[in-house]
Amino acid sequence: MLERIDLHTHSLASDGTLAPAAVIRLALERGVELLALTDHDTTAGLAEARAAAAGTSLRFLDGIELTADWRGREIHVVGLKVNPEDEALQQHVAGVYQLRRARLLAMGEKLTQHGLPGAALAAAALAGGSSPTRQHLSRALIAAGHAADNEAVFTRWLGRKGAAYVPAAWPELATVVARIVAAGGHAVLAHPHRYQCSAGQLRELCASFKAAGGTAIEVSLAGMGQGDAIRCAALARRFDLAASVGSDFHEPGLPWRPLGRAAKLPEGLRPLSAAL
Ligand code: MN
Ligand code: MN
Ligand code: MN
Repeated sequence: MLERIDLHTHSLASDGTLAPAAVIRLALERGVELLALTDHDTTAGLAEARAAAAGTSLRFLDGIELTADWRGREIHVVGLKVNPEDEALQQHVAGVYQLRRARLLAMGEKLTQHGLPGAALAAAALAGGSSPTRQHLSRALIAAGHAADNEAVFTRWLGRKGAAYVPAAWPELATVVARIVAAGGHAVLAHPHRYQCSAGQLRELCASFKAAGGTAIEVSLAGMGQGDAIRCAALARRFDLAASVGSDFHEPGLPWRPLGRAAKLPEGLRPLSAAL
């Protein structure tokens, strides 16, 4: 059984490939009834998505996925029902844009040192929208014929061990959660199973997240394995966090993150959707 809910999706406003209105159209085709657009560190796609959902059977929620640092790890926090006009949130987003821009330019310089047209590649990535990511730089590298595919780009250049990798200094987890809460949103710990933490570290992460004001955790993500689902459900119970559902959809061509195809939440959890 599938949920008719998707509270984690991306559009062209960050590193997705569909325009916000096209995300809404696809969700309607798939019978989704409640959807949030949660682009990385930007609210730029929300107005278009909200307008596309108006008057349809789909209830739309404003969302965002903020990037955070916790003990040197990159952690993602989804904010649901945030007020996109919130001034502190917009200041935060503007600050993260500058971090992203500086990082892409630095990676471009490293590419130049290796004989590639790094400045032009970084410029192409920065033209990609309000939340430029390594993914945009990867697409620029592939489009210009410098790499065969995304995997090759990350292995050779942009991955943690790549020749052009530059680490990012993201805002602290506690700051990120506080921004979401202050903007009227629910803070949701995104995809806990993807952080490559030990079970003990994951529990510490949940404790830090909850202490900072986080209230929910993703338990059902489209394409997630059974073992991961069980572990995430256990974290929700242990830390008394509401359970969220989503796909982390980025593009129709990626079958492992299909829009609107998350499995039903296990029994006995508090669904976050009931509070939205
Ligand atoms: Mn992404
Ligand atoms: Mn994420
Ligand atoms: Mn995501």
